[in-house]
Amino acid sequence: MPVITAIAKKHNLLVLEDSAQAHGAQTNNKKAGNWGDASGFSFYPGKNLGALGDAGAITTNDPDLVEVLKALRNYGSHEKYKNIMLGVNSRLDEIQAAMLGVKLKHLDKEAQARKKIADAYMRSIRNSHISLPLPYETDVLTFTEHAWHLFVVRSAHRDKLQQHLAENGVQTLIHYPIPPHQQEAYKNYDFSSRSFPVTELIHNEILSLPISPVMTHEQAMKVIEVCNSFSVSG
Ligand SMILES: *Cc1c(COP(=O)(O)O)cnc(C)c1O
Repeated sequence: MPVITAIAKKHNLLVLEDSAQAHGAQTNNKKAGNWGDASGFSFYPGKNLGALGDAGAITTNDPDLVEVLKALRNYGSHEKYKNIMLGVNSRLDEIQAAMLGVKLKHLDKEAQARKKIADAYMRSIRNSHISLPLPYETDVLTFTEHAWHLFVVRSAHRDKLQQHLAENGVQTLIHYPIPPHQQEAYKNYDFSSRSFPVTELIHNEILSLPISPVMTHEQAMKVIEVCNSFSVSG
């Protein structure tokens, strides 16, 4: 984010953050959702802060944008029966808001539980066919806290690795198997026929290992053991 915001500033661009799975994450002492001109959070039930149904929020430090967004989520209306722009119905349901208010109090504690699992993986997964996520700190990032919504490793033998894990009782998922430019929805766009070799490579190599605040230490140890026993010949 420090690099992206510097580029944006130089070229007078807006930055819209996708913080959908970054609740509580921070770098250089600034949290996700506070870096860009506006940021979207998802409260989809499976997210680190999840409602009981669909929900989400936008954060921004721009008071004018707040007024526009408040109208947009409510049929383009600030004032009952008056519509000043074309909007949608995207209000946060009261029941979901109440639920999120309760769950928000547990977010930091649950983040710590996720971090424990991630730390164990970082410390103990050792296999030349598995690349772990980047370390926490680099020359640009001084203080970084990952939200660990997912723990994504990379492997040139991803499908074999996934099969090996499944055969040994470890379920994994791929987030996400199809890159955006190859989605059917974009087939009529100019970029859909282009080649994006880095994106395509990532989509062929990524695998999300199990991680959640309710996972036990023993379960994490089992994942580590099965990862470490993976070999390409066998
Ligand atoms: C979940 C997610 C979304 C979509 O969030 P919704 O609440 O389903 O709209 C978008 N981007 C990322 C990175 C996500 O993880």
